[in-house]
Parts: sequence; C-alpha cells; structure tokens
Amino acid sequence: MKQVINISLEFEIVIGKVNLNEIAYRLKEIQDPIMIKLLEGILRWYDDLITDRLSKPNSGKARKGLGRHTQKSDSENRFCRGRKIRKRGYRRNPRKLSTIFGPLKLPIRVVECCHCGAFYSPLLSALSIGRYARKEGNFEHEVIEAVIDTNYRRLIDGRSIDISLGGIHNIIVESDIDRIYQEPVSLKALSAIMADGTGVKQQKGRKGELRAVIGVTKNGQVEPLGTFTNTEWSDIELEIKRRIKQAKNLKIPFIYDGEPGLDNFLADIAESQRCTWHAPRGAYHAFWEDGLKKKESQPITDTIKELIGIELPSDDYEILEEKDKAEVKSKYESSKSEIKELIEIFRMKGYKHGTAYIENLSERLFTNIELWLRTGVIAPKTTSLLERVFREIGRRLKRIAWGWSDKAVTNLSKMIMIKQYSREKWEKYWKQKMGINGYFEIQIRSVECGPCEHF
Ligand SMILES: [Zn+2]
Repeated sequence: MKQVINISLEFEIVIGKVNLNEIAYRLKEIQDPIMIKLLEGILRWYDDLITDRLSKPNSGKARKGLGRHTQKSDSENRFCRGRKIRKRGYRRNPRKLSTIFGPLKLPIRVVECCHCGAFYSPLLSALSIGRYARKEGNFEHEVIEAVIDTNYRRLIDGRSIDISLGGIHNIIVESDIDRIYQEPVSLKALSAIMADGTGVKQQKGRKGELRAVIGVTKNGQVEPLGTFTNTEWSDIELEIKRRIKQAKNLKIPFIYDGEPGLDNFLADIAESQRCTWHAPRGAYHAFWEDGLKKKESQPITDTIKELIGIELPSDDYEILEEKDKAEVKSKYESSKSEIKELIEIFRMKGYKHGTAYIENLSERLFTNIELWLRTGVIAPKTTSLLERVFREIGRRLKRIAWGWSDKAVTNLSKMIMIKQYSREKWEKYWKQKMGINGYFEIQIRSVECGPCEHF
C-alpha cells in the first residue's frame, strides 16, 4: 500500500549574513535525527495499522502475515490460530534499539488475543524483531564494515552510535559468517592451493596462531577456502576436503613454506610444492644447525636458488614451439639430478640437518614445472599471495587492539577475506541476512519552503 509522509521543519536565517557552508553544516547535523524521527514515525504508523486490522472484524486477507503469536501457556510453544485481538495499551518501557542513525526508543503496543488470552506485541513479530533484539541489521553491518576498514573509532565518535569494543566482539563472535564457508568449491577453476599460519595476539597477552587456506584461480585471484585459529592442520584438512567438490584428481600444486604438519596436506587432490622463495632461506637455517657460517652456506643456498628458479615461458602453451618446451624439460631434468648430486655431497660432508632438509625439499620443488609440462597451466610457486592476505588480516586485527578470542579471530579474518576477495558474496550475504527483499520503497516527493512571513 502507498502512504504519504509530511515532514515539517523550521529554520531561522539571518538575511544578508548567512553563507552556503553554514546552511550545509546545519543540515548535516540533523541528518541522523531526521532519520530517527522518520523511522519512529513509520513504525508507530505501522503499529497502529496492524492493531487496527487485528481488532476489527476484518477478512482474513487484511490480516495476512499479522498477529502471529505463541499460544498462551502452551508447553510446546505452538502458534495460536486466533487473530482477533483487544488493545491493551503500551508496554511500560519503550524498546531501545541501536540503529544505523543512532539509538531509537520505540513505544510498543500490547494486545490480548481473544482466542487464547495471550498478551503480545504484534509489531515486533510483524517486523521480525526478536524478543531480545537490541539492534537492527544495518547497524551491525556498519559496525562490521567499520571494523574491517579499521575506522570504527570514527564511526563511533562521529555519531551517536553507542557500542563498546566488547559489543563489537560479541557481534563478531555471534556472526553466522560460517554459512558462506559451507558452500562447496570447485577445483576446476583453481591453479593452486596454499596454506600457512601466522601469529596473533589474543586475550591476556596469549599468543595464538591464525591459519588460512586459499585457492588461487587460473587468473591469479584469491579464492578464500577457510581460516582457523589454534586448530590442528589435520582438522583443517578435513574441513577443506569437505568443501572441495572433487570431480577428479586434478593434481594442482599445494604450496607451503615447509611447516611441519603440511607435508602431506591434501595429498590425494594436490601435489605438494615447497615455496621456492622460502626454500633457500630454510636451507640456510639447516646448514647453520650443522655449524656452517653464513659465508660457507651462501654458495650452497645460491646454487639451490639457481636450480629451482626455472622460468616458464609466458607465451600460451598452445602456441609454443616444441623446442621451447624441450628446453624447459631438459633444464628441469638437469636441475633435478644436480640436486640429487648435491644431497650426496652434503651427506658425505656430514651435514645432517642440511641433507635432511634438502632431501625433504627435493621431492616438492618442481611440482609447478611438472604441471606446466603436463597441462600448460602456470601455477604460482611461492606463498607470496597468501602472505599478502595475512598482512591484510594482521593489520586490521592489530588496529583494533583488542584481545580477541579464537572465535572472534576466526570470524573476523573470514569477514576480511570475503569482503576483500569475494565482494559479490559479501554483499549477497548481507542482503540475505538483513532480508532486503523489495517490500519497502521510499522516495522524496517534493521540498517546498513556506511563503516568506516577514518582509
Ligand atoms: Zn491466541
């Protein structure tokens, strides 16, 4: 149905003195108060309309969607079939709601069901306001966006929005963002999967670990697969496997920087690839454990860097000449055998740690080259993309300077990733969550100032 609203404003103006800035400045100040009044006005009008329809002997049609309540003293909380009501005045205390425009105090009618005698507030059920709801969805949305963009201070200081850090923490912990992370992911669009962890400061100075798994699409985009706080890699693996729809074994690279516990991660759908950036650095550390000084291990790590740094032609695989492919293949084969020789030399020299490190590494260094030779797909070979993701998450977690719980760190990092890398999903999630379905539209008809009274 259609309805007109009249808003009446008054202003005082000093003629010949006022400038444009001052007019705009004062208008800006009343933006939120006008919206609060408007919201209250519409809600009170709706409350009156609902109670009117329920109290008059109307056809069922006019009451459709209205007057739903649980039957009085029904132990199973079943809904009552009765719709006819008697008005019983207003609740003693208005309902306080945090809204995007500031706090709203809403007087709420109470009615009595003529059928079962229950007392209830038809406005609350008509608007899907839960019994304990104290905020509306846009408010929650704005708070979370502000936290993610690290400007929540401004949001709170700039307006009469009233929320503490504890309140933000609760919103994030209670969020159902996990819903998005239940959807299955197709491996077909991915060229690699990566996983890694990073330290986070938590409650009472406790140090925790945030772990993330991402997919990289064939055009180099991040596809978030999951974030976890203080969770075993084996549990993470189960979770990720559940989400991945495996049409067939695609054997794309799984890239990691040598974290123990990840050596056989997703082994049945991916092939491990050690990050070629971290590998030489890890070697330096292993040889240091064998007593080698930096000067002595430098030539070794340089050789390793050189051997694994096989460049792939950037031209399309299909248009490459056979000799270009053959060149990569022979480089790959010679690198592989040179590394085998190196391992024997290190073993003879008695470098226990170094030998073990390179041996473990050697099985997982050329996965991306093998994939390219097999399919022509150029997959990433370092975890740099995931490190960028961690930097983005870390910067935001730190800025909030709050001892987050496991659940909060997990949920917030999920939100950051989805907002950053799956913008469409993020917007769809909020529209769905808030129930924006096209049942309310409003537009401005006209604005006219009254005729001049004083000349
Ligand atoms: Zn009833």
